[in-house]
Order: sequence, then structure tokens, then C-alpha cells
Amino acid sequence: MGTEIDFFGAVGGVTGSCTLYDKSLLVDCGLYQGIDEKEGINYKPFDFDVNEIELAVITHAHLDHSGLIARLVKAGYRGDFLMTPQTKELTALVLSDMIHVVASNGNEPLYNYRELNETLNQCVCVPYNTPVKIGNKIVSLVNSGHIAGSASVAVEKYGRKHHTTIFSGDLGNGSYGNTVFADTIIMESTYGDKMHVKEDPYDVLYQEAHQLEVQNEGTLLIPTFSIDRAQMILGILRNLKLLGLISDDLPVYLDTPMGIEATKIYNRYFNQPKGKRTELSYEELFKFKGLKLTSSRQASEAIPRNNKPKIVMAGAGMMQGGRILRHAGYYLPDEKSRILFVGYQSEGTISQQIASGEKLVFIDGQWVPVNAHVRSSGTFSAHADQNTLVDWLHGFSGISNIILNHGGDKQRCELAKRLENEYDGVDIFIPKHRQALTV
Ligand SMILES: [Zn+2]
Repeated sequence: MGTEIDFFGAVGGVTGSCTLYDKSLLVDCGLYQGIDEKEGINYKPFDFDVNEIELAVITHAHLDHSGLIARLVKAGYRGDFLMTPQTKELTALVLSDMIHVVASNGNEPLYNYRELNETLNQCVCVPYNTPVKIGNKIVSLVNSGHIAGSASVAVEKYGRKHHTTIFSGDLGNGSYGNTVFADTIIMESTYGDKMHVKEDPYDVLYQEAHQLEVQNEGTLLIPTFSIDRAQMILGILRNLKLLGLISDDLPVYLDTPMGIEATKIYNRYFNQPKGKRTELSYEELFKFKGLKLTSSRQASEAIPRNNKPKIVMAGAGMMQGGRILRHAGYYLPDEKSRILFVGYQSEGTISQQIASGEKLVFIDGQWVPVNAHVRSSGTFSAHADQNTLVDWLHGFSGISNIILNHGGDKQRCELAKRLENEYDGVDIFIPKHRQALTV
């Protein structure tokens, strides 16, 4: 069954933003302004059941997105208002100012300072990209480049199928921070010739883990890149476990010392929210049930003694070395094993051979038959595909030069061909080794 989304404002107009997702998650609660402010609409009761709302998310501090939050509290809402710290500070400012302006015009205020303060006490600040769990949903705020603290909202819902909805909020003129005007762009083109298969990574991991649980035996190997991919996969597995979609008992081995250290850096680098039971932080990447960190060689070598179903994430991602090789030698001959490739595979690497269907591979001085189930998914890639690269470029204006680097010649030529059509009059360069360009 799908998810209901109800639009209560900013449809046919641009103020009064208010959208209800799944009857329980309110995105924005804005004031109607100007020509949209008809018949005292800001004073009318809400068109939805306030008691059903589990969480209200405020994308940014502009009145047309935040102006009615204190009215929501007056109507009985006792839950959190989720927003970035900047949005909270700006909202306090903007709403106090509105009370002041309305009062000095001799109009009836929508709420008073005390009610505003109560409302601000219900505001919960989270930094960007910090997942918050609400029932079967996970909500994150993503920088939308509009004003300080402004966010798009990503809502992931875990039903029979994982489903992600993005609420853009107000997008900046180029939603990639403040540098929207750029003369010269030097951009990567790793996948300049490719579109990733649009698989949902949650579905891929769920299906793989679920298969282990159904067959109640076997090992899923994930050759893992230590930085970013490892954390992304841990985050997804954590969420699937938190929501009970895969069993807490299913062991997940993070068998890469570098991946373990990289995850610690992620913990430190990203701000961690405090004090709210629903918030998830990067710290939880290390805390979910069934996770086993095997830094030491002995712990790593002991993994095969566990003959229950399990997931083993080990480096290196392209199997050009690392602990994954020992696991591959042990598990690939077994038809109950599974192997999932989650990233770029260079020509000639062991991972590329297995991914392309070879049934016999040479690992650490011996031939290993591949009877395991093999799957590769480009969807985990840390690199944008061609469409995404072009979309990224669309965030900039005033471009005179585009220089394609970080990609093979085939990839760069394909991307350049596409860009030449669209960017008429813009110079597109495919520099060679040691070539100098003047821009
Ligand atoms: Zn705005």
C-alpha cells in the first residue's frame, strides 16, 4: 500500500506551506501571506487531526513555512518540531518579530510571546544528515542551500518495501551551498558514460539478508570500501534491524581494521544529537545488535567457526588484497554463500572477474571455484552517474568552461558529448596528462 500525502498549503500559491505525510508527519506549518491570506485563513482550525501527528518538521525559518507552529501547539500538538539549530534561532527571531508587528498594527495576534516560548521548547535541533527515527520512518534534513539552516527533508518509510520521499523545501539558486556562480568547473566523470541501475540500496541489503534468514544458513560476503561505503552499509543494516526487518541475531562482522577506524572518524566528525530518545547518531553505527568488530587478526580468523547465517563486510572493495581474500577462498566454493559487490570494479581485479560471472578465480596462489550466488549493484556507488553529474552541473550558472577529469577517456568523451548539446558556447575540455589549460 502506498503512502498518503496531503497538501494543506502552498498549492496554487506560494505561502502557507503545510504537507502531511502518512497522516503522521507534518512538513512545515507556514503562514499564508499576501494574496494567499484569504478570509482569515491563518486563524481557522487546521484541516487535519492534530492528535495524529507524531512529528512536525520545519524546513526553514521563513514565515510561510514556520509561521503557524505556535498555533499547532495551541491546537494541542505536544510532539517535537524537528529543525536545524540555525532554523530554531531564526524562527524564534522571525516569529517574535511577527507578534510585535501584528500587535503594533492593532491586529489580533495569532499567539502571544508565552505561547511562542512554549512552542520553542518543543523544537528539537538536529544537524543536517542526521537520521531520526519515528515509528517505521526515518527522517533526515539535507542542506537545500536556500537560507541558513534551510533543509530538504528525506523521509524513508519501511513498509513491505523501502520508500524514500524527498521534500525539497525551498531550494537555493543552485542547491549546493553558496557557490552557485562559477566560471570554470572542473568535474569528475568516473561514470560519465553510465546510468546506475536505479535499485534502492535498502531493498538490495534487505533481500540479501532476508535470503540468509530464509535459508537459515550461508554467509553473505560484502567486499567493502572502508570509507563511506562501509558506513553507508552499516547505517542501512542498523536501520533494518532497528525496525525489525532483519533479525537482531543476524551477526554482521565489520572485518576491516581500516573500516573500523574510518567509522570512528565518522563518529567524531559528524555532530551528534543529544538527549532525545528518537535520534540516531553515527555513534549507533557501532552499537546495533549483532554487530561484531573484528580488529584483531585472531578475531577475524575465528569468523568461520560461526557456522550460522551471517554477514561479513571485509576489505578491500575490489578484492585486490585484504581480509576479504581469505573469506573468499573459504566461502565462494559453497553454493549457500552469497557475495554482493557494492562499488566500482576495475578491469582485471578479482572482484571484476567474479562479478562478470567467472566460475574459477585465482586467489592467493590457488584456484577457487565460485559456486556462491553473485550480485553486483551500482546503486551503492559513491560516485554520481551521468544524469546525476549533469544535475549537479545544473546547480551552477555563468559557466564558461567545463573541464572533465577523474574519468577514463571513454567516460569523459561520452559526458562531453552530452554536455556539448546543452552547453552551447561553453568550452568543454578533456585535458591530457600534463596538459596546461588557460581559463
Ligand atoms: Zn523560504
